[in-house]
Amino acid sequence: MPVILFDIDGTLIRSGGAGKFAMEAAMKAAFNLDSVRDNVPYSGRTDQAIGGDLLRENGIPVTDDTMKALRAAYLDALPRSLHEQGGTVCLGIPEILRELAPRPDVLLGLITGNVREGARIKLTHFGLWDTFAVGGYGDVHTDRNDVARDALRQVHEHLGRRVPLDEVWVIGDTPLDVQCARAIGARAVAVATGWHAIEELHATDADHVMTDFANPAELLSVLL
Ligand SMILES: [Mg+2]
Repeated sequence: MPVILFDIDGTLIRSGGAGKFAMEAAMKAAFNLDSVRDNVPYSGRTDQAIGGDLLRENGIPVTDDTMKALRAAYLDALPRSLHEQGGTVCLGIPEILRELAPRPDVLLGLITGNVREGARIKLTHFGLWDTFAVGGYGDVHTDRNDVARDALRQVHEHLGRRVPLDEVWVIGDTPLDVQCARAIGARAVAVATGWHAIEELHATDADHVMTDFANPAELLSVLL
């Protein structure tokens, strides 16, 4: 049974930077800042890691309370940010999900640095949330490899059995997605619809590298 775990940002959707805008709005709202120092890498990282870096970068101590305040303000700001930034579902994704979702012999899931509630808000905005049965999220982990381990654990719980790892696929737009696939022994498809050039993705050991999913049949033939 193919188990297909999709990254969200840059792979399923492009939110037009809605997550980043919402995180910065949240920093301002939660900590009364006029401006936010945002020299923090976002791509492929977990919200937990990004949030901690943002707090440190702005001289705010990283505690359970400050992290909780930031997360609450972020989730509050995210729906409006999604509406304002006018993002889009990535090319070919609707066709690919329409083909895969009804198949009883395929399990679809998420593997993302987003906190679960943030993932739900983003994918609900684009009408995709109900498509995925399982997921690993960025609520507690700063390391994406730990998110992948969570996702795999959920797959096994959901199915009530272990799946052969050569049937598990991680699909993402960053070298970190490929790395976290390797961390759990899964296979990886890297797609250059996010922030990383195709040359950078070819430099990873992804099983397949694609420019985009403009031809859905190409990805489907790899997965099935
Ligand atoms: Mg991504």
